[in-house]
This record gives sequence, C-alpha cells and structure tokens, in this order.
Amino acid sequence: MPGGTANGAQPATRDPTTGFHLRSSGQRLLARLFAVADQAQASLCAMWLDLDRFRQVNDSFGFAEADAVIARIAGRIRSVAGDRATLLRMGSDEFALLLPVVETPDAERIAGRLLAVVDQPILLGGILFRPSVSIGLTWRHAADDPLSLLARADRAMGEAKRQGGNRFFVVAAEPPGATSAAWSARRDLEIESVLQASLATGDLELHYQPIIRPDGSIEAVEALMRCTVGGQQVSPLQLVAVAEKTGLIVRLGEWILLQGARCAARLRAQGCPTKIAINISRLQLCSASFLSVLHAALICARLPPDAIELELTESLFVDASPVVQANLRGAHEVGVGLAIDDFGTGYSSLANLKDLPATKLKFDRAFINELPDDRRAFAILSAITRLAGELGMVVVAEGVETAAQLAACEAARVDATQGFLHAKPMCEEELSHWMETRKAR
Ligand code: C2E
Ligand code: MG
Ligand code: MG
Repeated sequence: MPGGTANGAQPATRDPTTGFHLRSSGQRLLARLFAVADQAQASLCAMWLDLDRFRQVNDSFGFAEADAVIARIAGRIRSVAGDRATLLRMGSDEFALLLPVVETPDAERIAGRLLAVVDQPILLGGILFRPSVSIGLTWRHAADDPLSLLARADRAMGEAKRQGGNRFFVVAAEPPGATSAAWSARRDLEIESVLQASLATGDLELHYQPIIRPDGSIEAVEALMRCTVGGQQVSPLQLVAVAEKTGLIVRLGEWILLQGARCAARLRAQGCPTKIAINISRLQLCSASFLSVLHAALICARLPPDAIELELTESLFVDASPVVQANLRGAHEVGVGLAIDDFGTGYSSLANLKDLPATKLKFDRAFINELPDDRRAFAILSAITRLAGELGMVVVAEGVETAAQLAACEAARVDATQGFLHAKPMCEEELSHWMETRKAR
C-alpha cells in the first residue's frame, strides 16, 4: 500500500505517526518513480503540502496532541491521494505527494480536494480547530532530478502561503532566473489579460456535461467554463480565483449566465429542451446586482426560470450575509433551481439541509470514488438520498466513471448521475449532436 499503514511491524523507512515514507527515503523513491515513469513514458506530478499556522497547535496543545492532529490529517490526505500516490512526510507539518500520469485538470482537482478534506474541523481540548493547508503543485520536466522537482513543488507551496494559505499554487514551467513570486504574478497577469480579451472577443467557451436519470432521460446539463492560456487549458477554479482577485468575476459571471441561458434556448428551439446548470462563485452571489443579472439572462434568452439551475457550494447556502440570503431567496422565489454542489467535501451538515432553499444535492466525486467497495460510503449515500428525497430535493452523484459506480449509485436510488462514464464535458455542437443521437435511440 503506497501510503503505508501504522501497524506494529513498521519498517524503518516509514514515519510512525502518519505511515508515510520518511523524508530520508525520498531521493531513492523518487529515482524509482522517475524510472517507472520513463519506462511508461508517463508524466509525474509533485505536490508539496504545508499545514497553515500549525505552530499554534504545537505551542498551545503540545506535541502529543499535535501528533494526533497530524495523524488525522495524514489519513485525510491519504483518502484523497488514493493508492497510486507515493506519500512522504517531509517535516513536522510538511508532506510530499507524487502521482504518476496525471493531467493538469485532474491534478488541480486533487489539490482542490486535498484543501477541502484538510479543511474539516478537529476538536482539540474543547476547542474546534480548523486546519488548512498550502499546496504547491508542479510536474516533472525532462531536465529534472528528484531534488529539483521537489524544490519546485516546495517553492510553489511558498507562493500559495504568500497568497494567504489554504490554497494551491501551480508552477507548470519555470523560466530560468524568474523568482516564483514574480512568476506567479506574471501567470496571474497572463490569465487576466486572456480573460479580458476573451470576454471581449467571445473566445471563452462553455462546455456541457449531461446529468442522466436511471431511465436514460436527461435531468440537466452542467455548463463548465473552458479557457486556454499560452496553449494550455487553465482550470476553471484557477480562472475564477484570478477573476475574483481582479474584479473580472462580475463580467465573467454575467457572460456565463447569458451564454448558458442562450444555449438552453437554442436546444429548446431544436426540440431538445433541457435544464442548464450554471456554477456560481461566491463573489457573484455576494453582489447586490446578482438578481438583475439573472433576470436579464432569462429575458434575453426568452427562457422560463425553471430552465436554469444554479450550482453553489454548501457554505454559500449557510452564509449569513443578508445579500447572499436575499439573492438565494430571490432566485428560489422566481423558480430558478438551486443545487448544493460538491456535497460531502465541506461541512455537509444534515441539520442545515432542512432549512436550505436547495432543490438539488450533488454528491461530490471524492465520495463516489469510494464506491462500490466502501460500504460506509454507500450507506451514507443511500441514507442521505432518502432524506434529501423526503425534503423534496433531487440527488445527483458526480464523477461516475465506472459501471460499478453507476450500479452502486442506482442501488442507493440517486435520482441521476453525472460523469465520464456517460459523457465528458463537450462543446455545444457536440452536445446537440449527442442529444439528437440519444433521441433517435
Ligand atoms: P464542479 O461544479 O463540481 O464540476 C464538475 C467537475 O468535475 C468538472 O471539472 C468536470 O469536468 C469534472 N468531472 C465530471 N465528471 C467527471 C468524472 O467522471 N471524472 C473526473 N475525474 N472528473 C469529472 P472542471 O470543468 O475542471 O471544473 C472544476 C470546477 O470549477 C467545477 O466543479 C466548478 O466548481 C468550477 N467551475 C467550472 N465552470 C465554472 C463556471 O462557469 N463558473 C464558476 N464560478 N465555476 C466554475
Ligand atoms: Mg458544479
Ligand atoms: Mg461538483
């Protein structure tokens, strides 16, 4: 087992607290991973993780408690990293994660999931401690040796810390002589200028991924943003982060809502009516003009409100700020659907569910990943599906990649599933072709 277990017969190369490999075996392990990757002509992704403010825990609670916290967090990291990852403990609160053959969006998604799982409260001496982690992410280049790869991941992590922590930072390639801070600023500027230009020229694209009911009918289609910077696809999460930092999020959000609504209208005109689900970021929902933008999109596209659904993270639903609450209520009252996205990665409080105006619950991929083997995950999925059903919510399982996962989701009686097994996100033309083909079946 790559992450290792903390059993009595621990080999000396493992850290007893976490079961991870010790730093001292890093160079040997990496050399082996490099050789395996070379043979398979595969790439290797490296992440450096450093817990934020961990000194406070050490200072306030002592080393025994701190060790217990480290062990808990290590378990969370292992649960996301999966069996293919090699995990190392690099320092008291620092870890490295090496993962073969991972594509850019996948690796960034894993980093996002790591942030989410670490960010779950831990009860420490009667106080609820909220851990968080900074992650540096990079890929192996031809010229790398094990140390230069790890050093770059470490520098990327430093940048994530400088930006406030509790985030990941990606260094894809480092121009010689550039410091990582300058490089990061340049990358953000590059993304910003591409975003500006794309908003003006319409180069930005939405791709669409269907959500399918067990009877094969289409429950909805999720719009996902796509943008290329310097020949590379940039993760929508990174785009949203830059857009939020630069204030571009307002225009970007308007553009996405309008494009999504227009796509829904065109599909209707074509005889393929479907609901379009649109992801909404926190800053959009914090804006006092959100409802007018939403109404404008519906009017421009001549679309009934129930043809649109907004996907929001759970924390937004429980956000106490009056503007967010008013926006949620306003959207709900006119009949726009509200989905809780990525359920199972945040607090996922059952008590909250009953008070939320949500019409849909989307189980996160990290959860579905555990199926069908994890019986506890299955038990939770089916119990919450029943509960959400009784509260009038539709339940969707995200990230279904295998037939076995689909069977487990259907056995848990979820209302619909979404994932690469059915279809990857596709451009509008492909989507409309895909829908036509299904209609003909
Ligand atoms: P999300 O809303 O949870 O979207 C689902 C993500 O999972 C998408 O990643 C999708 O491509 C991916 N996915 C779907 N099925 C599978 C599967 O079977 N396996 C795997 N490995 N992945 C699958 P994507 O497009 O990279 O988007 C990532 C996140 O970025 C989204 O997560 C959403 O939170 C955000 N996002 C995407 N588009 C927008 C947008 O237009 N506006 C805002 N505010 N956020 C967006
Ligand atoms: Mg979503
Ligand atoms: Mg999701």
